[in-house]
Amino acid sequence: MHEFSLVQGLMEQLTKLAAEHEAKRILRVHVEIGRFSGVVADSFSFGFTALAPLAPLTRDAKLVIMSPTLQYGCRVCDQRTVKTGDAQPEHCPCCGSQDFFSLGDDDIILQQVEME
Ligand SMILES: [Zn+2]
Repeated sequence: MHEFSLVQGLMEQLTKLAAEHEAKRILRVHVEIGRFSGVVADSFSFGFTALAPLAPLTRDAKLVIMSPTLQYGCRVCDQRTVKTGDAQPEHCPCCGSQDFFSLGDDDIILQQVEME
């Protein structure tokens, strides 16, 4: 399952982070799953529930899946406009263009980790 290997990647990332911060326990993990990442949030969550208890570090960790912060870039002036939600901006605040590309919604982003 695709999601399982992603969760494994996340676990490796968490282990590294905890080591950097000399943390002993991960309490909560906030993850954004992009709309076009091809990842099913339920499967990801299931994978997390299956793998987290296997390591002492993540045994009590809770996974919080957040809707992604969508970011749009203007094709004309390259102004980056951050938007939350599904709607793209009507026009560029900088040059008024309506030609946008979207950024960062095909990824899983580790937003925030609470540890101790
Ligand atoms: Zn613009």
